[in-house]
Amino acid sequence: MRVALYIRVSTEEQAKEGHSIGAQQDRLLDFVRSQGWEVAEIYIDDGYSAKDLNRPAIQRLLNDCVKKKFDVLLIYRLDRLVRNVIDLYNVMEHLDKHDVMFKSSTEVYDTTSAMGRFFITLVAAIAQWERENLGERVTMGMEKNFRKGGWNGGEPPYGYRLEDGKLVVYEPEAAIVKRIFDLYKTKGQREISKIFNKEGLRTGNGALWAGFTVRYILYNPVYIGKKRWMDNLIDGDHEALVSEEDFEAAAILSKKRLISREKTNVCFPFTGILKCARCGSPLQGGEKKQKLKNYRYYRCSGRFAQGICEIPIIAEDTVEKLMLEQMDFIIDGSWQREIEVANDHHVTFTVPDHAQLERELSEIQKRKKKWQMAFANDVISLDDLKLRMHEENEREETIRAQLMSESSMDKTIPKLSKKDVMTFAKSIKESWPHLELDHKKVIMQTVFSRIVVDTYGEAVGGPGRRVACKIISFETN
Ligand SMILES: [Zn+2]
Repeated sequence: MRVALYIRVSTEEQAKEGHSIGAQQDRLLDFVRSQGWEVAEIYIDDGYSAKDLNRPAIQRLLNDCVKKKFDVLLIYRLDRLVRNVIDLYNVMEHLDKHDVMFKSSTEVYDTTSAMGRFFITLVAAIAQWERENLGERVTMGMEKNFRKGGWNGGEPPYGYRLEDGKLVVYEPEAAIVKRIFDLYKTKGQREISKIFNKEGLRTGNGALWAGFTVRYILYNPVYIGKKRWMDNLIDGDHEALVSEEDFEAAAILSKKRLISREKTNVCFPFTGILKCARCGSPLQGGEKKQKLKNYRYYRCSGRFAQGICEIPIIAEDTVEKLMLEQMDFIIDGSWQREIEVANDHHVTFTVPDHAQLERELSEIQKRKKKWQMAFANDVISLDDLKLRMHEENEREETIRAQLMSESSMDKTIPKLSKKDVMTFAKSIKESWPHLELDHKKVIMQTVFSRIVVDTYGEAVGGPGRRVACKIISFETN
C-alpha cells in the first residue's frame, strides 16, 4: 500500500506544543510502520487554516489522486483535513472516484473498514442534506430580491436616479451603498441599520433603515452593473457601485452567517430523542450565552409550552454523561433488559401533530398583531407589550423547535441492526469528545429512537445549578 500523509498546522497552532509539523509527522510515520505501508509522499500545509480547501498542499494532493500516486490518504485527525462536513463530503467523493482510501490515525473515520465507511456515509448524508437546504434557502432569497430588484418601469434602485430611462449614480446614496458593503465585512445587517439610523440617515423612501433594507442592497446585482432580463442577469448600461469581488464576498459572508445562526437553532444532538418521563413530551434543546462556555440545556416542552409539567431544565453535559454510561450496557449486550423496563413504564408519548403545530403558529402570529394593536391604541403599556411579545416569542420558539425536531428525524439516515449498534457503541464512546455537534446529532439520531429521562427531585435547574438526571428507559432504532 502506498500512502500519502497530509499534515497541516494553522498559524496560531504553530507555536503550540503537540501540534507541530514534526509531531504530526512522527505519529503518522509510526502508524505507517505498524501497518507495513510505504510512504508515497508527504503533503504539508504549514500555516494554513482549514476554513476551506484553498491550501497549496491539499490541492496538489487532490491532483495527485487523479494521477494514482497513492492508495491511501492518512491524516492525524480529521480537523487537519477539513473543518466542515461539506468539504469533507467533497474530498471523500473525489477520493472515492479515484479509488483512494482514507484513514485517520486517531479516529473512527476511515474508509478501510466497514464501520468507518458506514460512519462516513452518515456524515456525507448530513452534508448532502445541509447543502441542499442551504442552496434552497439562498436561491429563494436571491429570487425574491431579484423580483423586487428590477427597476424596469419602476422606481430606480437606491443609489441611482432615473434620467431619460437610464440609471445614473446619485452620489449621496451611492456612498451609503459602498459603506454597506464595507461595514458588512465586520457587522451584521441589523447592526448596520442601527448605525445609519443613529446618524440620522434614511432610506430612499425616507424610512428608518432595517435589517432587510440592508440585505436588499447586499443582494441586489444592480450594484455590480447588472440588470435582470427575463430570468437572466445581463450587463446593464449603468455604472457599478461595488466590485464583483466585494459583492461575491458579501454573499459568501451572509451564507456563512446564515449557517452559524441556523446551527445554534438546530444542532442539539438529543432534540427529538429525549422525552420527559413525567409527561411524555419531547425535550427541546436550548442555549444561553455565557462568558466562558455557553450553557446548553434541554427543557420539557410540556412545561414550557403547555404548563402541564414541573420537570427542571437538564444540562446537556449531564445528558451526555448519562448516555455514554448507557453505552456500556449496549456494548456488553445487556440493553435488551432496559427495553423491557421501558415497556413497564406507563407514559404515553405525545407525537406532535404537524397541522396542529402549524395552526398554533398562526394563532401566535395573530395574537402578536393583536398585542401590537392594543399597544398602538393605548390599551396596554410598552412594558406590557414587551412582556406579551416575549411570552409569545418563547411559545413560537418552542413550537418551531418541535416542528424542526420532527423534520430533523432525517429519513435518509440508514437504520442500523442491533449488531451494528453494539459495534458502533464502542466507537461512539471513544470518539465522542472529539466530535462536532452535527456529527453527534447524526450518531444519536441513528442509534436511538427514544431516551426517556427524569430528574432527581424538584431542584431548580439553570446555569451553575445542575440537576442530577437519570435515564428511565431508552430504545434504539
Ligand atoms: Zn414533562
